[in-house]
Amino acid sequence: MPKSSAQQALVVGAGIAGLSTAWWLERAGWEVLVVERAPSFRAGGYMIDFFGPGHEVARRMGLLPALESRRAPISSVTSVDARGNRRSEISASAYESVASGVISLLRGDLADVIRADVRSSIRYGVTVTALDDGRVTFSDGSVRSFDLIVGADGVHSTVRKLVFGPAAAFVRYLGHHTAAFSFQDESLAARIGYRYQMLTVPERMIGCYAVRDGAMAALMLYRSSSPELPADPAAELRSRFGDLGWVAPDLLSVVPEDIYYDEVSQVDMPSWHSGKVVLVGDACGAVSLFAGHGASLAMTGAFVLAEELSGGVEGAFDRYQARMKPAVEHTQAFGRRFIGWMAPPSRWRISVRDMAFRLSGLPVVRNLIRGSVMPDVDGVLTPA
Ligand SMILES: Cc1cc2nc3c(=O)[nH]c(=O)nc-3n(C[C@H](O)[C@H](O)[C@H](O)COP(=O)(O)OP(=O)(O)OC[C@H]3O[C@@H](n4cnc5c(N)ncnc54)[C@H](O)[C@@H]3O)c2cc1C
Repeated sequence: MPKSSAQQALVVGAGIAGLSTAWWLERAGWEVLVVERAPSFRAGGYMIDFFGPGHEVARRMGLLPALESRRAPISSVTSVDARGNRRSEISASAYESVASGVISLLRGDLADVIRADVRSSIRYGVTVTALDDGRVTFSDGSVRSFDLIVGADGVHSTVRKLVFGPAAAFVRYLGHHTAAFSFQDESLAARIGYRYQMLTVPERMIGCYAVRDGAMAALMLYRSSSPELPADPAAELRSRFGDLGWVAPDLLSVVPEDIYYDEVSQVDMPSWHSGKVVLVGDACGAVSLFAGHGASLAMTGAFVLAEELSGGVEGAFDRYQARMKPAVEHTQAFGRRFIGWMAPPSRWRISVRDMAFRLSGLPVVRNLIRGSVMPDVDGVLTPA
């Protein structure tokens, strides 16, 4: 077969950033291979609120109708006590003003919608074991050269480790562990409804809501002084949340084997590229679940990288980083400020948050909430 004259790109990681990068590069004429460590596509996962510049990127990709069809119709955020009684709720009008344009959906659904529109070959169960600028050794032993290598392999990136060194130099631990999963339970879904309901006690939060068709999504968050992950996440969650009441026993009894469990951290590194290798998404700029814009920024980073590459490889990585990094840092700072709202450390702080929920019908409080949950980074889509 004659060798293609197109430039060859390798994308490592078939998550939000990797699939979006493949989508944009292949439309710009690159020949793209995606490798993904997981043995097959991972559906489900945790719930995300998708908005901001990534929403605009999805519109430009023509994906909004497909994303809308996967939307979970979340109508409110409710704080409950250990018996499930409502303590406070963000009013429907405040939620609408905070969340207008937001699409709540499973991370796996977002990835699936992008993947359905990617033409490049995706090889599952494969990763990289060595990188020598453009020359790549894969876990199956094969070796191949590329003009461009994109590390889109998430917060614990192997590409980053191989090129820039150990994670410790770049990962900022935010003092919490989190777990998330989705599962099927029609009676619980009917009981909870399409409201994000959460029970918060100092340093621990457990929340859940119905997604659609009897599916539920659960999120757990707790403070831990060490980023070290437990050997048995399900057992750890039982010991951390077993005493909480409400629906905690129901959720703890259905923790699946493929649960998402991780430390909560951000990635902060001075340079996102070296030679032919460039990082995108959480690999270089994880903002954490506290900031809540990671998927949006991952898609935006993919778009900005491809847009800058369209002007030629020379200087493209610098231009990409110069556009994206301020937005990422702004969002990370916002995320660190949001920790106390999402995981209040004391009863007093929980009461203050619940009070803000209760007053959320007032325009002044609504604007305060809106300002505190929506970092303004839309300018990143405009080339310098
Ligand atoms: C609980 C939770 C809630 C969140 N809520 C929101 C939200 O509301 N809104 C929002 O925008 N963002 C949210 N985020 C953040 C968002 O999910 C991430 O920022 C986003 O998924 C990052 O995309 P990514 O592609 O960079 O990384 P990932 O989505 O993590 O994808 C990385 C991919 O690389 C693969 N991989 C890893 N290592 C290798 C390897 N060595 N070789 C090959 N492949 C590899 C992984 O299997 C994975 O498929 C949330 C995150 C969490 C944990």
